[in-house]
Amino acid sequence: MYVKSFIARNAYGHLMSALTAQHDPNSEYRCHLCNSPLVFHRSTARSRPWFEHTDAGLSEHSRQHCPYINVAFEEAATVNVLRTLVPKARPLVQRGH
Ligand SMILES: [Zn+2]
Repeated sequence: MYVKSFIARNAYGHLMSALTAQHDPNSEYRCHLCNSPLVFHRSTARSRPWFEHTDAGLSEHSRQHCPYINVAFEEAATVNVLRTLVPKARPLVQRGH
């Protein structure tokens, strides 16, 4: 299981949010960063709609460089601690580059 993504490129190369993708859930979606195929997950009672990388179709470049696949361990640990302390708070993730 990989990190959830809430934005992707559709079959025409346009950026789409997962909320917008609900209108066309069977379309082809690709990662906006690494161009790997994504699976669309519909919204549920507990979560908003989202996209996810899958092992099928991942290139070696994606495995090494896409931040949705290679989440820094320290970042994931910080997010888990914040969720424990403040369950409904969403952490602000910032990148230096
Ligand atoms: Zn990606």
